[in-house]
Amino acid sequence: MYRTHTCGELRMQHVGSTVTLSGWVQSRRNLGGVTFIDLRDRYGITQLYFDEATDAALRERAGKLGREFVVRVEGEVRERASKNPDRPTGDVEVVVQKLEVLNESKLPPFTVEDETDGGDELRMKYRYLDIRRNPVKEKLIFRSRVAIETRKYLAEQGFIEVETPFLIKSTPEGARDFVVPSRMHPGQFYALPQSPQTFKQLLMVAGMDKYFQIVKCFRDEDLRADRQPEFTQIDCEMSFVTQEEILNTFEGLTKHLFKEILQVDLPDFPRMTYDEAMRRFGSDKPDLRFGMEFTELNDLVKDSGFVVFDSAELVAGICVPAQAASFSNKDIKKLTEWLQRPQIGAKGMVHVKFNEDGSVKSSVGKFFSDEQLKAWGERFGAKPGDILFILAGEAESTRKQLSELRLEMGRRFGLMKEGDFKPLWVVDFPLLEWDEESGRFHAMHHPFTSPKREDMQRMLETDMHEARPEDFLDLRADAYDLVINGAEIGGGSIRIHDRALQEKNFQLLGFSDEEAREQFGFLMGAFEYGAPPHGGIAFGFDRLCAVMQGQQSIRDFIAFPKNNQGRDVMIDAPAPIAAEQLEELHIAIAKGAGEEA
Ligand code: ASP
Repeated sequence: MYRTHTCGELRMQHVGSTVTLSGWVQSRRNLGGVTFIDLRDRYGITQLYFDEATDAALRERAGKLGREFVVRVEGEVRERASKNPDRPTGDVEVVVQKLEVLNESKLPPFTVEDETDGGDELRMKYRYLDIRRNPVKEKLIFRSRVAIETRKYLAEQGFIEVETPFLIKSTPEGARDFVVPSRMHPGQFYALPQSPQTFKQLLMVAGMDKYFQIVKCFRDEDLRADRQPEFTQIDCEMSFVTQEEILNTFEGLTKHLFKEILQVDLPDFPRMTYDEAMRRFGSDKPDLRFGMEFTELNDLVKDSGFVVFDSAELVAGICVPAQAASFSNKDIKKLTEWLQRPQIGAKGMVHVKFNEDGSVKSSVGKFFSDEQLKAWGERFGAKPGDILFILAGEAESTRKQLSELRLEMGRRFGLMKEGDFKPLWVVDFPLLEWDEESGRFHAMHHPFTSPKREDMQRMLETDMHEARPEDFLDLRADAYDLVINGAEIGGGSIRIHDRALQEKNFQLLGFSDEEAREQFGFLMGAFEYGAPPHGGIAFGFDRLCAVMQGQQSIRDFIAFPKNNQGRDVMIDAPAPIAAEQLEELHIAIAKGAGEEA
């Protein structure tokens, strides 16, 4: 037998009993004639004890144990002389009578402790050692609990878990597909699903009524920090439902997860339209843990001779409470430069300080009287000690820049509190988004999303050849996102279930009828065999886990993640394949390219 107990199990009640433990040597300390070893497994750490009374040969072997050796010990549990209150097993230790080395270990390339000396790349290369560390191990255990609770809740609600294929044909969700060459069909390729979208809709046509799946999705997107080319969704679809019923079901799931796993009672989730979110926060995923909503000044600032404001489509700002004194001129200059970096792209920033002594000071004091500045302050609800930051320009980009500034102030002044959770539903997204570069519309969510009922007739009746793009910008969709603390946790929509409307939507998106039929004929065909009204949602599972734990990065919630270049540095993928393999797959181009070089 390898063990009678785990390394996290022994307490005072076990004192006097003989036990067997197996695990890894976390550390060894020799103090005079006494040797202590911390033995670790997934469940915890137990202290092993050897002294002069221990058999000499055994003591010698104990003295040679290196870090991460795998051992099995037998001994008697006894109360410790000096207890460790920070450890659940800290009241006891095991006086070792037998020791067997099950496997030796090379010296690990970094310390396998909560605080490690290993850098990111090294930890990824030896991920199996990294996962032995508590902070990583606990995140994986946490993830497992979230998955199990999700299954429990959805099963309880009558959802059925159905697996959908990974080798499919492209689904357009806005990213590039990963493709898999077919050996049996020369020159043909499967695509890995960006999501099971079309399959879950077909399951609704098939009468499955309530579907879910915790499923891998694959998107070949340009690499951004904290994006993974493969990630996991909690993917769901329901038939005969309104948007309201979907929101309530998944608000229920979210509350259940927070309650069961974090013992946090979330309040009912507020709803905000997309337009309102953009107007008040400049973002479709506002972080509601703090205020600093936008205030618009257009009517108060025009015709003052200050060209920047006079020529702007929007003049708007935020009020940072009680921080006027913490911004010197130098600080403000730095902040302005930060806003002017190409990533944000603001032209400049105006500030107004309302000093504690009642005086007002502004970078545009030349153009505006104190009375005018005070009138702005009133609109912001500013108090003595507050500072206003104001941006101006084209409305959409100004809002985005101001949103970045708002978040920066939130970070800087510690307003995004850990353990504070502020969920909300953002609803009524636009159906389409105009892409200047390609001169076409893109689906804001995806091409299967239904316009709102009141917009359907207009869409169906429009002659696409005569329509102008601006005729469609105001179409609204039954599409929604769940946002928690400024992170998009999930998104979904009511779907089109009528062939004619789906065809119209493809036309709007610039597909020829032939292209639409070729790519999505199977779905539109299914719509002709009694497709029920349906809709659904998908949660980003990795992101949900990270947000629940107040973490920025999803990486540690994934057992074997890719690095920022999309590589798995442990198994070294992607990698070239053998010439014969390429040949079998009928991939001549890559081979040719190789020979050329
Ligand atoms: N398939 C969508 C996505 O991955 C979610 C949905 O509409 O249900 O974002």
